[in-house]
Amino acid sequence: MATYIVLLGPPGVGKGTQAEILAKQTGLAHISSGDLFRESIKNQTELGKLAQSYMHKGELVPDDVTIAMVKDRIFRPDCKLGAILDGFPRTPVQADAIRAMLNEVGEDINVVPFITAPDEILIERLSGRWTCRANGHIYHSVNNPPKKEGICDIDGSELYQRDDDKVETVKKRLRVYMEQTSPLIACYRDRGLLVEIKGDQAIFKVTEDLIAALKKS
Ligand code: ADP
Ligand code: ADP
Repeated sequence: MATYIVLLGPPGVGKGTQAEILAKQTGLAHISSGDLFRESIKNQTELGKLAQSYMHKGELVPDDVTIAMVKDRIFRPDCKLGAILDGFPRTPVQADAIRAMLNEVGEDINVVPFITAPDEILIERLSGRWTCRANGHIYHSVNNPPKKEGICDIDGSELYQRDDDKVETVKKRLRVYMEQTSPLIACYRDRGLLVEIKGDQAIFKVTEDLIAALKKS
């Protein structure tokens, strides 16, 4: 049996940061739908062009292409122990699709940590976020700065500020989250999978709470 963890929570709450840490500690693959789209944009593929037209407005990429992209990723060899899903599913249609994909191979989602923080913290985090060009490693100008300004500690690549992290787009993304993603909270709670985690704590503290939640699941 493999382990599948869905990290649920609004933009900026720390899903990517925690997924990176947990993947290292558990050996599970880290699958970030946002990173997969950014990779396609970098490679100027058709999917990248389509995704960019939604991403820069802060809207969700359509379900069909998003689901196909994750389906193509989730059964790769590096996912044999399972995966930490970061940013997927984001709609009820995506949630049904991931369940069907996993059920088809006798697997299911094991636990859904739901990370929360007040909106003003999310906005402060996203406006200070710096992302690594090569591999999507995540920093914050104040809360989690790199050792050398503008350079990723892990792979030495350039850090940049995402175009969709500007304040107007962030506000739109928070509205989209409330409208399209927050219905998943009740679905996963009803299935007994949801564990609430306070995201407005130090990074290491959130990790401790997540590890405790995984052990109980
Ligand atoms: P998400 O993937 O949910 O959008 P990220 O992991 O990219 O969130 O984090 C958003 C920003 O907040 C980044 O700049 C990150 O360094 C910072 N951050 C993440 N977790 C914390 C935390 N617990 N305390 C302070 N800053 C954090
Ligand atoms: P964040 O970590 O700040 O929540 P992501 O990197 O997860 O941001 O997502 C950035 C953008 O990529 C989203 O605003 C959306 O346009 C697109 N995207 C990422 N994941 C999905 C998804 N599961 N469904 C639809 N669009 C997505």
